[in-house]
Amino acid sequence: IEVVGAPVINDLKDLKGAVLVFHDISDLKRVEEMRKDFVANVSHELKTPITSIRGFSETLLEDENADVEIQRQFLTIILKESTRLQSLVHDLLELSKIEKAEMQLSTKLIEVNDWLQSSLTLIEEQVSKKSLHFYKAIDPDISFYGDPDRLQQVVLNLMYNAINYTPEEGSIYLRIYETEDNIIIEVEDTGMGIPEEAKQRIFERFYRVDRARSRNTGGTGLGLAIVKHILEAHQASINVTSEVGNGSCFTVKIPKKW
Ligand code: ADP
Repeated sequence: IEVVGAPVINDLKDLKGAVLVFHDISDLKRVEEMRKDFVANVSHELKTPITSIRGFSETLLEDENADVEIQRQFLTIILKESTRLQSLVHDLLELSKIEKAEMQLSTKLIEVNDWLQSSLTLIEEQVSKKSLHFYKAIDPDISFYGDPDRLQQVVLNLMYNAINYTPEEGSIYLRIYETEDNIIIEVEDTGMGIPEEAKQRIFERFYRVDRARSRNTGGTGLGLAIVKHILEAHQASINVTSEVGNGSCFTVKIPKKW
């Protein structure tokens, strides 16, 4: 709490009392803290790949006679880390765009079948790289209002997570159906699951249950924060049920009227 005080003086310059104003600045403080955390996190996330890109390029330049195999190994790391940097910058820009333009959704009538085609191609490509079983149950006649590009990103982010956090030979499911008032999108996997205490926190920027694992699979820690923002702008909700070791299920509920 911030306090500002001033004396109260009458025309004859007698002190009559004082006025004290109490400002509750706890909200402001919290926002400021979050901003500082965010900047610290971004800096850290950027620093890690840059350090490794620098280190490996320096080593390559210093050792002119390095084995071709070693050279390729180092170049592969450099490529991987630059790709990480690229995704990170992309996700950061997305997040800031979404936060700024929350009210500027480009809302259209979405016909599920058409809308999903390009995402399905991308998903199937990832699935085939990893030998996972992919099952889909999509009601083809559904149509609803929303921002098609943003909602596509929601589906992709959830599906990529399902793919990333499910070991080989596991299964992932995509279900889209409607109830009386809502469109329901369910993304389920038989992967590693999410511990109870992490279920709320995974929607925070940069929160990861296992930092090293997320990095390895190319994760930025921003995917679910982006999902949550897009859904908030649609007045939609997202819930997660999960059991460690058995899998997770994310359920998105988009109201038909909003
Ligand atoms: P990331 O880029 O790390 O995947 P996200 O914001 O998409 O970032 O997810 C945050 C964290 O939530 C992940 O690092 C992971 O620990 C956890 N998570 C998300 N989806 C799943 C899932 N389907 N199964 C297990 N853990 C998940």
